[in-house]
Amino acid sequence: MTHPHAVAIVGAGWAGLAAATALRERGVAVTVFEAGRVPGGRARRVMRSDGGADATRASANAPDEMAPDAFRLPLDNGQHILLGAYTHTLALMRRLGRDDRQLLLRLPLNLQSLDGQFHLRAPRLPAPLHAAVALLSARGLRWHDRFEAVRLMTALKRAAWRTDPDATVADLLCAHDQSLHLTERLWSPLCLAALNTPVGEASAQLFAHVLRDSLAGSRANSDMLLPRADLSALWPDAATQGCDVRYGTAVRRVAVHDAGVEIDGAPFDAAIVALPPHAAVRLLRPFADPSLISALDAFTYLPIATLTLRLTTAWRLPSPMMMLIEHHERGHIGQWIFDRAHLLGRDDLGELTIVISAAQTMMDGERAEHVQRLIDQVRAQLPVGLAMPQIASTELIVEKRATFAATPGLVRPANATPWKRLALAGDWTDTGYPAVLEGAVASGQAAASIISANLP
Ligand SMILES: Cc1cc2nc3c(=O)[nH]c(=O)nc-3n(C[C@H](O)[C@H](O)[C@H](O)COP(=O)(O)OP(=O)(O)OC[C@H]3O[C@@H](n4cnc5c(N)ncnc54)[C@H](O)[C@@H]3O)c2cc1C
Repeated sequence: MTHPHAVAIVGAGWAGLAAATALRERGVAVTVFEAGRVPGGRARRVMRSDGGADATRASANAPDEMAPDAFRLPLDNGQHILLGAYTHTLALMRRLGRDDRQLLLRLPLNLQSLDGQFHLRAPRLPAPLHAAVALLSARGLRWHDRFEAVRLMTALKRAAWRTDPDATVADLLCAHDQSLHLTERLWSPLCLAALNTPVGEASAQLFAHVLRDSLAGSRANSDMLLPRADLSALWPDAATQGCDVRYGTAVRRVAVHDAGVEIDGAPFDAAIVALPPHAAVRLLRPFADPSLISALDAFTYLPIATLTLRLTTAWRLPSPMMMLIEHHERGHIGQWIFDRAHLLGRDDLGELTIVISAAQTMMDGERAEHVQRLIDQVRAQLPVGLAMPQIASTELIVEKRATFAATPGLVRPANATPWKRLALAGDWTDTGYPAVLEGAVASGQAAASIISANLP
């Protein structure tokens, strides 16, 4: 009897676990090394009482009055949104027996501000009509702005979604006469949500790819999918079944030979390093080509903060996901608010999450002050007649290196390396996407294909 090939995956994020699943499906014996204790990496479940590798918290500043079982609901390290265009991820979930229709709330593209001033909604029309009608009927935009937005989309489409590789999103918007109002209301929130990088620094090319796949994609592709279970439960938990997963194991050394790879001295037929660039570079520096090392060193990172507000009584927002309007001078820096009670289908719960992308300012100053200002922001933008109950407790998670900064001209390494038995995976590889879940999954699967093709 022949033994199956043994492949090591370093990192149990969405990229590493997508690779693990693809290899297991091909009969490979997979060992996963993960520094943390939970599968999912930067998209994972966190229990309310523990810390996380990169997460810091401020919590429980008021007595809790909710039903005790509400406290046991896991949180995520950050609220995530998926898109209908995440085809690799959705197909992977189905292959693992995870019912995406049950686990993800599918909503047609609907960008509605809490204060009621802005509303862009894709009607149930065939593409590309749904996007054009959404832009042309958006509340809170002047007629001129609506036409300019449609013109920008048309121009990008005509250019096959290719832009000047050195241009920022701000350059692109300026070249296409997008007004400040249109930028503040529409393009900037979309850019921050998708690239976690402000328009002045973000890559126009990556933004164009996001617009192609979302706003200009088929109607189903532009749907927003909101998790109804914690992020590890969506599929990473299921992906670990059948793998030998070594949690709490931070790999320190990788050595590559013609016939295999050693992970901290243990031999494998091949390995996939599925770590963020700052962690991958530590393992690769001793032997990799200087051009790869300098590409990895060139990545910079931006934080995302997620503030959870637990309310003293059950309460619902008008919609499960709503936009917040930013006023930086007042510390009102939240961009989106989500209704967790709605997502979890819990009528007995009042729980909201506020997302702050590119949250560098959250790294300085008093955390309690930031929290208070974000609460003030929500209260100030509630529509007339809607009063939010008292806040029982708050929990703030700041992921310091949430994503790489999606800037122009970034060199994104490929999955293949000069060594046949070693491949790279992660949202930062050359996926054509910014740092997103779909990029991580597609990258993991591409790395798995390379390794299985190179095994004898
Ligand atoms: C707060 C937040 C919000 C986000 N929102 C969205 C969103 O709405 N939509 C979206 O599509 N994307 C979003 N993203 C981005 C998305 O989470 C990432 O693109 C994706 O999770 C990256 O997966 P990965 O597998 O490439 O990397 P990671 O998830 O970083 O996986 C790497 C793994 O390697 C482990 N590790 C590190 N060093 C070692 C070592 N030496 N040995 C062993 N293990 C090690 C880490 O613990 C981690 O589990 C968000 C990210 C954050 C943080």
